[in-house]
Amino acid sequence: MTNHIAENILTVRDQIEQCALQAGRDANNIELLAVSKTKPVSDIIIAYEAGHRSFGENYVQEGVDKIAELKHLSDISWHFIGPLQSNKSRLVAENFDWVHSVDRFKIAKRLNDQRHNYASQLNICIQVNIDEEETKAGVLPHQLMPLLSDCEKLNRLCVRGLMAIPKASKVKSEQLASFKKVQALFATCQQKYPQFDTLSVGMSGDIAAAIECGSTIVRVGTAIFGARD
Ligand SMILES: *Cc1c(COP(=O)(O)O)cnc(C)c1O
Repeated sequence: MTNHIAENILTVRDQIEQCALQAGRDANNIELLAVSKTKPVSDIIIAYEAGHRSFGENYVQEGVDKIAELKHLSDISWHFIGPLQSNKSRLVAENFDWVHSVDRFKIAKRLNDQRHNYASQLNICIQVNIDEEETKAGVLPHQLMPLLSDCEKLNRLCVRGLMAIPKASKVKSEQLASFKKVQALFATCQQKYPQFDTLSVGMSGDIAAAIECGSTIVRVGTAIFGARD
């Protein structure tokens, strides 16, 4: 069986470049995070051999197992993007380079306290429930600034910006409406925290809208590795 992972990465990169061009942006400011959740290590190796270096995982144990197995590929950057329970925070703090899904102080504090002193700071994004959906994780927009203030004292963390998963929609105007809200929130944050450089929005089905609204990391699974079971 052939698979098309290397080809798909080129296609998605191309799409990112086209979208950046249309939005008047520099594609170099948009990182492609390959979301490898549920996919085998062999798929990650194919992407690695095609030159890809940053991977996103959603489930703690699955991610930690893959990181251990690929320890020899030491230039991979591992991003945790899934829901995080406090009893799993240590594994994440000790193994990942980034966490996109921090949505409460308790988790931020634990990640900070559990990050080894000899490791670099853990990069984090605060996940915002941008459409205020009951079923979705993330801080509500009005809770964001207080949470960021609380995080200022956590010196093992480097707060890089925001992450959001908008309300599911295939309609571009609706996607844009969600992304514009998070873009505005991000701009407000940058006034107080000029070092903020990361807006983690956009997945396989809404890359174009996300890039139009300032995304700096798109998290892409299906378009690279194919459909998940
Ligand atoms: C699964 C997942 C993705 C990737 O989604 P695709 O639609 O497969 O590109 C991105 N972000 C998060 C948080 C995810 O859980």
